[in-house]
Amino acid sequence: MSTPALKIYNTLTRTKEEFRPLDPANVRMYVCGPTVYDYAHIGNARPLIVFDVLFRLLRHLYGAEHVTYVRNITDVDDKINARAAERGISIRELTEETNKVFQADVKALGCLEPTMQPRATDHIAQMIAIIERLIASGHAYAADGHVLFDVPSMPNYGRLSRRSLDEMIAGARVDVAPYKRGDMDFVLWKPSKENEPGWDSPWGRGRPGWHIECSAMSWAHLGETFDIHGGGIDLVFPHHENEIAQSCCAFDRDVMANYWMHNGFLQVEGEKMSKSLGNFVTIHELLHTEKFGGRKWPGVVLRYAMLTTHYRQPIDWTVERLKVSLKHLNDMYDRTRHAKTGACPNERVIQALRDDLNTHEVVVALGKLVGDAFREAKFSDELLATCAFLGLDLEELDPKKTIVSETQMLIETRIEDRLAARASKNWAESDRIRDELTAMGIILKDHKDGATTWEVKR
Ligand code: AMP
Ligand code: ZN
Repeated sequence: MSTPALKIYNTLTRTKEEFRPLDPANVRMYVCGPTVYDYAHIGNARPLIVFDVLFRLLRHLYGAEHVTYVRNITDVDDKINARAAERGISIRELTEETNKVFQADVKALGCLEPTMQPRATDHIAQMIAIIERLIASGHAYAADGHVLFDVPSMPNYGRLSRRSLDEMIAGARVDVAPYKRGDMDFVLWKPSKENEPGWDSPWGRGRPGWHIECSAMSWAHLGETFDIHGGGIDLVFPHHENEIAQSCCAFDRDVMANYWMHNGFLQVEGEKMSKSLGNFVTIHELLHTEKFGGRKWPGVVLRYAMLTTHYRQPIDWTVERLKVSLKHLNDMYDRTRHAKTGACPNERVIQALRDDLNTHEVVVALGKLVGDAFREAKFSDELLATCAFLGLDLEELDPKKTIVSETQMLIETRIEDRLAARASKNWAESDRIRDELTAMGIILKDHKDGATTWEVKR
C-alpha cells in the first residue's frame, strides 16, 4: 500500500523526517495524558488539541480503522494523595470527579476520543512485570522497599534529551536518598504507608513511580515498539528519557517509539503556564465563566486559537488572540451556513498538515476559502468539510444555541441555590425560587435521593 508522504519533526534526531509506520495497517501513537488531581489548564489543552489533529490526519491518510491512539489517565500520584487528603475525600472520588471534568473539557475542545484511555491503576501487574525484568537483567535494584533504575547500566541513557550523565549529575539537585546507588537513579517502585494507596508486590506493599506507568500502558496497548510518542516539551527530560530507559532495557530493544513529538509551551507574558507558577486559566473557566476577557469562550474558539501557531513554537495566550479567532470563525460560520455536507477537505490544508502539522499554513488556506466565498457571494461546501475535518464545529457559534445553553446554566444555578436554601431549611427562599422558575415555564421535580430535575412546561 502506498501512502502519501507525511513529515514529522522527530525530537530523537532533531530533524524533520518522513513518517514510515512499522505497520501501515496499524499505526500506533501514545500520548502522555493528565494526572487527574485538578482541572486541566489551557496549557494542558495544547497537546490534547495538537495530537488530536495528528490523529485525525493519520486516520485520513491510513484509514480510521488503521490507527490506534492511546492517551493514558494517571490516577496514582503523590499530588493526587495530597489533594484528596486536603479536601477530605477519597482518592477514588477525587480522580473520578477530575476525570469527568477532563473528559467534558476535551470534548468541548473538539477532540475525538482516543482509541483507548487506560488508567494507571489498572496496569499495576504490567508495571511489576517490567520492574521484574529490569531487575533480572541488571538494570534495576531493590533497596529499602524501593526499586530503582540503575542509570549507569544503560550506556546510551540521555539520547533523547542529548545530555551526558556527567552533565546531568552536575545540573541536578541531587536527591541524597540513602538507598540510591547513583545520583541519577530514579524510582520504579516505592513503599506506601498505611494511609497511602498501595499494592502488594515482591518488594512489599507499595506504589509505582510516575515513569513506569507510561512504559506499562504503552506496552499493554501498543506493544514493545510503536510509532509515535507525544507530549509537551517539558516531558523530554526526565519523563520520556526514563520511559525509554525502562522500555528499551526491559524488552532489550533499541527503540521504544520511532518518532518522538513534543509541543512547545503555552505562555503567559513569556512564562510557561503552569499550576506551580499560579499563572493558569483552566479550560473549564474559559468555557463556563466570564473570568477571561469578560465572556465565555466556545470550545471551537479555544481550539482554533491554539492552531493559529505551529505546535513547536511557543504560543502567547491572550484575550486578543481569542477575539481575532472568534472573528475568523464567525466569517467561516457565515460562509458555511447553507453549505452542503459531503465535500472533501481542502487539499492545501491536507498538504500543510502533512508538513509537520503546519497549522499556521492551514489558517492561511482557510482564510483563502472564506475570502473566495465572500467574493463569489456563495456558501462553501469545501470550507464546511475542511472545518469538520479539523474538528472545528462552527455550529457552536449559532447565537440561538448560545442562548439555549445560557438559559440552561441559569436554571441549573437557580436549582443549586434552591438546594442550598433547603439544606439550611430556608423553605421560604426555596419556594420563592420554585415560583420564579414556574413563572419561566420550568417545572421542578424533587426526587427521593435529594436530587432535583427540571423540564419545560408543555
Ligand atoms: P502535566 O499535567 O503537567 O503532566 O501536563 C499534561 C500535559 O500538558 C503534558 O503533555 C505537558 O507537557 C503539557 N503541558 C503542561 N503545561 C503546558 C504548557 N504551559 N504549554 C504546553 N503544554 C503544557
Ligand atoms: Zn508518559
